[in-house]
Amino acid sequence: MITAKARAVDGPDKPFRAAEIKRRDLDSHDVLIEIKYAGICHSDIHTAHGEWGEVNYPLVPGHEIAGIVTDVGPHVTKYKVGDRVGVGCMVDSCSECENCRKGEEQYCLNGMVPTYDGVDKYGEPTQGGYSTHIVVTEDFVVRIPDNIPLDAAAPLLCAGITTYSPLNHWVAGPGKKVAVVGMGGLGHLAVKIAHAMGAEVTVLSQSLRKKEDGLEFGAKDYYTTSDPETFNKLAGTFDLIINTVSAQIDINAYFSLLTLDGTLVNVGAPAEPLSVNVFSLIPHRRSFAGSMIGGIRETQEMLDFCAKHNIVPKIEVISADQIDEAYERVLASDVKYRFVIDISTM
Ligand code: NAP
Ligand code: ZN
Repeated sequence: MITAKARAVDGPDKPFRAAEIKRRDLDSHDVLIEIKYAGICHSDIHTAHGEWGEVNYPLVPGHEIAGIVTDVGPHVTKYKVGDRVGVGCMVDSCSECENCRKGEEQYCLNGMVPTYDGVDKYGEPTQGGYSTHIVVTEDFVVRIPDNIPLDAAAPLLCAGITTYSPLNHWVAGPGKKVAVVGMGGLGHLAVKIAHAMGAEVTVLSQSLRKKEDGLEFGAKDYYTTSDPETFNKLAGTFDLIINTVSAQIDINAYFSLLTLDGTLVNVGAPAEPLSVNVFSLIPHRRSFAGSMIGGIRETQEMLDFCAKHNIVPKIEVISADQIDEAYERVLASDVKYRFVIDISTM
């Protein structure tokens, strides 16, 4: 057993505290990773606060993990000591079902094993990346390209793949108009990635406060959704809308911005249901879809795409003692654009 230092939370309204957790001894295909950086995803907050349902506390969140391989099991072939690697939102799946065989392990028919608040194949609770070490089977580890610094790589493991995957699936590219709703952690990467794919990108944000950044990230236009005129002006404009908002919004107003056969993909995951008026979907054969992270192969593809296009998230590195404060700031939409924990401060 390996003892790792961690930051854990004991209940929905409890602060983070220092903790020690156990990591299993290496099985034949396991990789031991010394975690260097862990991003703070809004999903960590939804989970830590118990918004999505039962949580197995104490909880160590963190599914945007970047680090270095420090040991490998006897049959590991993909990685060696010293490799720069990442782990995202899942650490295992059945590998046999139809979806796993397609490389869509996130949709494993037998249930993938989430990086935290899950149960692994040994029956042990999984604990995430706000910790110094993690043991993961090599098939759920990805390689971080040399030109992406480890701190900036971390958010790509969730925010990056969660936006890349639907942009890829719904073919954002030249000639396509894409809108990104909410410019936080996911949203700012969606702008960068969609722009690099060749689409024309528009940001729809609560205010114009971050307009300059949005244009710098590659958006052509930036509108505030607090002005009703925005919805009149942009009616019927977009082929694809990626909604990254973590809270309930009037989704019907956004459907009206889709063109004929346009699709709105919800990646934002508020606990409360969104209310759909079908009459905002029917008229232009519009689609409303969801999308969850991405498979392992696609995650590697996304990292290589970001390396090739020099895409990195804009991050604010914090110490382990600042997690509670960072959560408050994310909830206040006061994040530019991802908090990343420097694990050496554990
Ligand atoms: P984030 O950094 O907090 O960004 C969310 C953005 O939404 C905010 O920056 C803000 O952008 C906007 N927003 C927040 N509250 C709003 C409100 N009440 N009304 C309108 N806009 C609001 O969060 P994130 O880490 O990007 O995650 C976003 C959501 O995606 C979360 O619900 C998270 O759980 C979910 N998620 C889903 C997946 C998946 O696989 N589907 C993966 C990761 C995360 P502006 O300031 O620009 O308006
Ligand atoms: Zn996440």
